[in-house]
Amino acid sequence: MSARILEGKTFAAAFREEAGKRAKILHQKYGVTPGLAVIIVGENPASKVYVRNKHKSCEELGIYSEVIEMPETATKDELIAEIDKLNASDRIHGILVQLPLPKQIAAYEAEILERIDPKKDVDGFHPVNVGRLVTGQKALIPCTPHGCLKMLQLAGIPIDGANAVIIGRSNIVGKPMAHLLLAENATVTICHSHTKNLKEVTKNADILVAAVGRPKFVTADMVKAGATVIDVGINRIAPKKLLGDVDFENVKEVAGAITPVPGGVGLLTVAMLMQNVVTACEMQIAK
Ligand code: NDP
Repeated sequence: MSARILEGKTFAAAFREEAGKRAKILHQKYGVTPGLAVIIVGENPASKVYVRNKHKSCEELGIYSEVIEMPETATKDELIAEIDKLNASDRIHGILVQLPLPKQIAAYEAEILERIDPKKDVDGFHPVNVGRLVTGQKALIPCTPHGCLKMLQLAGIPIDGANAVIIGRSNIVGKPMAHLLLAENATVTICHSHTKNLKEVTKNADILVAAVGRPKFVTADMVKAGATVIDVGINRIAPKKLLGDVDFENVKEVAGAITPVPGGVGLLTVAMLMQNVVTACEMQIAK
């Protein structure tokens, strides 16, 4: 039997609606409009599309949004000065520096991201938020893995006691995903490029998350019958052709539930960013 398809648009719509409702409550109760500032440095065309989508999404949900465009040649100090201004702004509750940064400042990425006030760090990349997530405190959580968790919950996939296997250990997806599932009482295994006998490990997964960045990396023989397979991968193999990390056509015949690419996890990320902006605003009001 073919797997249940977890359509990203259904879940993204629910998350966006929730963000919009909470933004409205903040406005009605406190007269505050949550605000997001996105800084983009340079002319990366993909980044420009992402930033435009974020801005549009804010407009639709009644969230104030500013886009700060800096030239390709901007220095680290100029970028930091911009972050400092936004850290001090009452209008802005969430700050995001669009990655990747141009070559001349890419080496300072960690320092630049750490300059963002952790209370406004809506990407959830600041070490303070990472530490809070790991220690089970209230945190701003990276959008993609948080979206995956909320999707699993909304879809009614059992997590407590499940064997969860994550392929990939990046700071953006793999590691936060592992901590989120651990906090929900899954038994978590993280795999990476040095993992031995990967197939034996993934075969044991009730929930398998692929965040590798290699098209069709997860094949049907790596998946346990009935497992839930979350495909985070976005691999552009031609100008208009995206593939996930999972061999969707074959894996869907084995899995119990699966996310497609495109049309899966990719749609959750901006929706979760909207939630993070509202969460950041709520946390700043509550302090
Ligand atoms: P990274 O390149 O940072 O991490 C990839 C991970 O995969 C690494 O941990 C690497 O291991 C592991 N890996 C690579 N090859 C193998 C292998 N042969 N066996 C086992 N593990 C392997 O990628 P990201 O986490 O940033 O992104 C992963 C994918 O998710 C990409 O396709 C990206 O485009 C997509 N993505 C999608 C988002 C969305 O909105 N849907 C958001 C963010 C990312 P090691 O650490 O040992 O090198």
